[in-house]
Amino acid sequence: MQLIETAEAVRTFARERKTRRVLVPTMGALHHGHLELIRLARAAAEDEGEVVVSIFVNPLQFEPGADYERYPRPEEDDAELCRQASVDVLFRPLPHEMYRGDRSVTVEEHSLSETLCGKSRPGHFRGVCTVVAKLFHLLAPHAAVFGEKDFQQLAIIRRMVRDLDFDVEIIAAPTVREPDGLAASSRNRYLNEAEREQAPVIRAALLEAAQLAREGETCGERLLALARARITSAPSAQIDYVELVDAETLQSQAIAGPDSLLAAAVFFGQTRLIDNLRLA
Ligand code: AMP
Repeated sequence: MQLIETAEAVRTFARERKTRRVLVPTMGALHHGHLELIRLARAAAEDEGEVVVSIFVNPLQFEPGADYERYPRPEEDDAELCRQASVDVLFRPLPHEMYRGDRSVTVEEHSLSETLCGKSRPGHFRGVCTVVAKLFHLLAPHAAVFGEKDFQQLAIIRRMVRDLDFDVEIIAAPTVREPDGLAASSRNRYLNEAEREQAPVIRAALLEAAQLAREGETCGERLLALARARITSAPSAQIDYVELVDAETLQSQAIAGPDSLLAAAVFFGQTRLIDNLRLA
């Protein structure tokens, strides 16, 4: 595996290599969810292609006061996991390689970013779009893999690719879970024992609401009331949002249908966890 740490070196690498390249952008602290993305990237790269993983804790997508400083950075473990997963190139730039002090251009999406996490984390998706656009320019991948756990992020990246004509195929990876249903996340390692025990309630609540919908309930408020009540039954849970939205537009829905998505963000202590479920 080749480790590249500068923007210049990665650009040279991308220019020189003529083979198919599939990118998996991450912030590191890799877990089995990321490994599934790498597996899909390997399949998409085909025999001759290369899998590139980027690890960059992107300061632009953390709001002031969020967990940028304390975000886990287990560099050696991450590099070893990438080696074991037969990653061809690990791109791990330092912040000054990605952002100049006087930078003044960002990429912003103005519709899908207005709801859900965009409401609670102002500027977050501007940071995400900007860094992903930069990674696409630097690495010129043929395809890139993103997880459905971050459903809104995936939708926004697809929109950015469409609206700005990036020549990159976006591949979606289904959410990978722990045996108790909790979505795998780098942030799960922040949870104390009690919080970790209670965190699967998010998934359980979304499944219960989906079951009610399957039984014929279409009233969004009733579905959400059930999910919210289930989540708040966990003593450490503080709801940021639980919403029913259209899976295409991410706009709030009053009536559930086959295009609906249930999405939740819940704090356990300082740790904010997200999950979602398609009703179809
Ligand atoms: P992160 O390192 O958290 O920024 O995530 C990097 C990529 O991995 C994003 O595309 C995430 O959606 C994806 N990802 C993170 N956790 C999971 C998971 N549990 N299942 C599927 N994809 C995931």
